[in-house]
Amino acid sequence: MFGMTPSISPADGRRESADSAVLVINSGSSSLKFSLIDGSREAVLVQGLAEALGSADAALHVARPDQAKETRAIPGAHHSQAMAAVLEVIEEFHVAAVGHRVVHGGEAFSESVLIERETLAAIRACVPLAPLHNPANLAGIEAAMERFPTLPHVAVFDTAFHQTMPPQAFHYALPHALYENHRVRRYGFHGTSHRFVSTEATRLLGRDPANLQLITAHLGNGCSACAVKNGHSVDTTMGFTPLEGLVMGTRSGDIDPNLHEFLANTLGKSLGEITAMLNRESGLLGISGLSNDMRTLAAAAETGHVRAGLAIDIFCYRLAKGLLGLAAGLDRIDALVFTGGIGEHSAAVRAKTLSHLQILHPVIDAEHNRIHGRDSDGRITASTSGLLTLVVPTNEELVIAREAMRFLAPSFTSPSS
Ligand code: ADP
Repeated sequence: MFGMTPSISPADGRRESADSAVLVINSGSSSLKFSLIDGSREAVLVQGLAEALGSADAALHVARPDQAKETRAIPGAHHSQAMAAVLEVIEEFHVAAVGHRVVHGGEAFSESVLIERETLAAIRACVPLAPLHNPANLAGIEAAMERFPTLPHVAVFDTAFHQTMPPQAFHYALPHALYENHRVRRYGFHGTSHRFVSTEATRLLGRDPANLQLITAHLGNGCSACAVKNGHSVDTTMGFTPLEGLVMGTRSGDIDPNLHEFLANTLGKSLGEITAMLNRESGLLGISGLSNDMRTLAAAAETGHVRAGLAIDIFCYRLAKGLLGLAAGLDRIDALVFTGGIGEHSAAVRAKTLSHLQILHPVIDAEHNRIHGRDSDGRITASTSGLLTLVVPTNEELVIAREAMRFLAPSFTSPSS
């Protein structure tokens, strides 16, 4: 029923039962993704996506393990109504906490926090840094707090993991007043993913986290790589916004900043149009003129589509260049870790990227690469390789759930946190 809150025990909103679940919310401007994760088994109980919010086509898609997907029309629903529909879906479960993905925490947040009134104000203060994402995240938080008023809500920031970057890595070579007055600096994103896969890689390799230097490459629709030294981010490819760095599905990654003036002068484009082009019409889509989807491009390149092949070549070359750049933040590279939809599933992209890293003497194991390192500890390189390379599936929802669980009673512990 709309407006109903799930049963929770004691008055302080904390719950200790091992069958409790954490609701993970990832709220976009017109979408709301949710996962309900069992706290003790760390398994997904139910997950879904409300999309086209604010339109007549708004719908909630729900998936449960081993069951057919369901779709329910929620015409005209905004975040609050979508959250009410989610609540109906999960009302049979005991929800102990809600974890929220928040894209930008600026310099205010170097770790996850329990959301209180001041937290909301601090997230709102970061809106100028992420004008599309943070308002959408706030809409999700507010809708969830309205529906689950007695539960602890925890904000997990994409930027927080990178707050350990040293000044030489996070500053731009711009007039310093821009940093002092407007906090113009490199922040980095995908922090939950980089943190998760670097922790997983450390575990898989059985290594001491205080003595392991990794480069992690998160390659999804958005792409970024991170230098992780002894468990801490020391540099990353994304910057002030998620546009900087690697070539992505529809984002250009690094370009010459003078391009703005050239395009404005020659094509009469406005700043907004140029920004939209760099974010939504560039990257793999822009180069290929075909698709932002790596699977489509790989299939097209096979049948001789020249620009699909060029898009993949540029993607891999620029990725290799980005990875080598990050090595400046490390003393050595103990392992390179691929993750994200492309990183986890494209043997061809991984092989091509390693082919541009010959300076590090990688020796790929074709069979392990073909099966995405699944039969071992994720390894896709031979024992003779100069660069140990792994594939580690990411799980950002699980990181958010674990973070939310940290704020529950001490006896509510996760098996691997
Ligand atoms: P998001 O960043 O939106 O979470 P994903 O991490 O799911 O996206 O990554 C999406 C990308 O992964 C797309 O380019 C898609 O083509 C690519 N991808 C997924 N599966 C494969 C595959 N089997 N081979 C190559 N690319 C794949």
